[in-house]
Parts: sequence; C-alpha cells; structure tokens
Amino acid sequence: MKLRIKYRSWIPRLLGVDAVTIYPFIFFKHSVEQCKEASWFPKLFKHELIHVEQVRRLGWWNFYVTYLWFQVAYGYKRNPFEVEAYKRQDEDISPHQKLVMLQSWGWGWIEEK
Ligand SMILES: [Zn+2]
Repeated sequence: MKLRIKYRSWIPRLLGVDAVTIYPFIFFKHSVEQCKEASWFPKLFKHELIHVEQVRRLGWWNFYVTYLWFQVAYGYKRNPFEVEAYKRQDEDISPHQKLVMLQSWGWGWIEEK
C-alpha cells in the first residue's frame, strides 16, 4: 500500500504527540518548515518508518490490536514495538528513507510504492 505523509496535522496534536503512524498515513504535528529546521526530525521520521515496517510485517489489524494490547500490558516505553522503534531510530537513515523524507517536504503528500 502507498505511504502518505501529512505535516501540520491535528491528529498528533489531539493525541499529544509529535507524530503518529496510522498506516498508510504518517501524521506530523509540525509544519514542513519547522521539521526542515529541527535537528531531531530525521530520527522522528525514521521512528515512524519503523512503525510502517512493523505494520507491513504483521498486517494492519494484527499490528494495531497487538500494539494496543502491549500498550495496556507494558505501557508506552516498554511496548515492544516502541522498544524496537527507539532502538533503531538511531541507526543511519537509508538513502531511500532520506529520499522519502525530502520528497515529503517538497510536496507535502508523498506516495511511496
Ligand atoms: Zn513510536
């Protein structure tokens, strides 16, 4: 399924977070201009792409039902999906991931195969 990325979204604002992946959408709280300037943004972008990978690995319902179950059982910081995402967000962003990020800045909404 194609990935769609939206900046300056009310959804993360409502949830009190900087970003949320509701596959096939990634919603960021800040505007493109703010994200371009922010040193923390590539890591956040990568973090959300790891959630995209997790959804694709497990399937939509399996991922979100399990995610919510882990959230209740372990809490956010010890949710195994978050543990993986926080661990791997520090890895270098791949050329493909960087391209997706830059394209999403250029056009606001980007479709990825
Ligand atoms: Zn996360």
